[in-house]
Amino acid sequence: MTRRLFQGVVGIDDATNQLSAGTVASSLIPVPCSLFPDPCSLTPQEDPKLHEECGVVAIHGHPDAARQAYLGLYALQHRGQESAGIATADGHHLANIKGMGLVSEIFTDDVLAKLPGSMAIGHTRYSTTGDSALLNAQPIRVDSVKGLIAIAHNGNLVHLGNVRARLERDGAYFQTTSDSEIIVQLIAHSRAGSLVDAIADSLSQVEGAFSIVMMTRDRIFAARDPRGFRPLSMGRIKNPDGPDTIVFASESCAFDLLRATFERDVLPGELVMVTEDGVTSRQYSTGVPQSSCIFEHVYFARPDSRIFGRWVQESRDQMGRQLARESGVPADVVVPVPDSGVTAALGYAEEAGIPFRLGLIRNHYVGRTFIEPEQRVRDFGVRLKLNPVRNLLEGKRVILIDDSIIRGTTSRKIVRMVRGAGAKEVHLRISCPPTISPCFYGVDTPSKRDLIAANKSIEEIRQYIEADSLSYLSLDGLLRCCRGEDQTGYCTACYTGNYPTQWVDVEDILPAALSL
Ligand code: SF4
Repeated sequence: MTRRLFQGVVGIDDATNQLSAGTVASSLIPVPCSLFPDPCSLTPQEDPKLHEECGVVAIHGHPDAARQAYLGLYALQHRGQESAGIATADGHHLANIKGMGLVSEIFTDDVLAKLPGSMAIGHTRYSTTGDSALLNAQPIRVDSVKGLIAIAHNGNLVHLGNVRARLERDGAYFQTTSDSEIIVQLIAHSRAGSLVDAIADSLSQVEGAFSIVMMTRDRIFAARDPRGFRPLSMGRIKNPDGPDTIVFASESCAFDLLRATFERDVLPGELVMVTEDGVTSRQYSTGVPQSSCIFEHVYFARPDSRIFGRWVQESRDQMGRQLARESGVPADVVVPVPDSGVTAALGYAEEAGIPFRLGLIRNHYVGRTFIEPEQRVRDFGVRLKLNPVRNLLEGKRVILIDDSIIRGTTSRKIVRMVRGAGAKEVHLRISCPPTISPCFYGVDTPSKRDLIAANKSIEEIRQYIEADSLSYLSLDGLLRCCRGEDQTGYCTACYTGNYPTQWVDVEDILPAALSL
């Protein structure tokens, strides 16, 4: 089996649709999947984690807006590593450069120098909708009757068939297969008098998850869908000599690198506009119950981010503590599966009074290419990323903390690895409920037939992964950990199968026999 991967970086300035000079151009090279340890490159059966679709940033009122957007995207790289792009505007022109690969690979000094202006929006992408070609990288720039508009989008629209067909009947010509372009086409075809009315009108016509930043030649817009699935925060860089710089980012961790202060979340159903005259806002949708993605707290967002009104670190610490209360077991050490299991493991260890030990070490420097051993080594992909610290595990009763079991294959390899390093017992604890249903809101999940918890009981999963015991955090416990004092409404559909929107793909939610 081969998979087509980009080697190097191709940049496109879609003002001209030409390869941009100064970027590293290369070609598509078919390569064996087994060569690549990176989660993006593993086969579906080997891929241990769910993937977020995107991260977005926007900057208004900074002399080097492109570099600020670059820094913001750099901090959001965990939300997507497939492609990245930055569009800038200087009041007259709108430039846009995007490419395949990591933010730092695409945006060298030379490339950033081609992006003038005091406004910018940026995007980093792991695709779930539309194919993965450079064409679908964002921001997307569309020249419409309402003027030039660039858009960057985190999330996934649902129920789009009719909207797209209607737009095409009305003469819309789609440049990409990305659903973000549908929003721009809706804006272009809106009969509303002003641009801001057209945007509000368009956003109220689409269903699903979207945290969006948009830019025209002289304005920035930021909006969240009415249910608030994906996070989007607003911050400010104080400027003693003039107007403040206003910034938006998928996660507040981006503000730290920009030296911006967190101001507030963009609200579900809110459309914020930033112009030279300042910030204005309107609710384009009201009365829809909030359903923010709880998996952002479990896994996606960085622990140093504050999302949905709450620090992610605090939620994960609470998940670990709650897990210890719900399913404690006598043991000698608590060991996280790095990196995402670390915060919950710290909470678990403290609550249970059991020593926390980094008994698994993750290799952070696994690149995209390495020499494959002549003989394929068993569990090679996992071994390349994780290695046990034998002297911490030997003869010990180990509680392993992880944040999810998707197909079960990776969990089994990790349990075997810990046991192989001499552990006497291995107890796996998961800091969320069993994942039984796929996501339609911007998270790349396998279909139900490939989710082990949709097809096996917890005892059957325990036997499959060869653990001495297995427990998940309860749904009530998880909600308590993520709500704190406030009453944030959460989407929990991947744990319950109850979707906050009407649309589901019947094919994807049919359980089927697992072939493991
Ligand atoms: S289905 Fe799961 S991953 Fe998707 S938005 Fe809901 S909670 Fe998040």
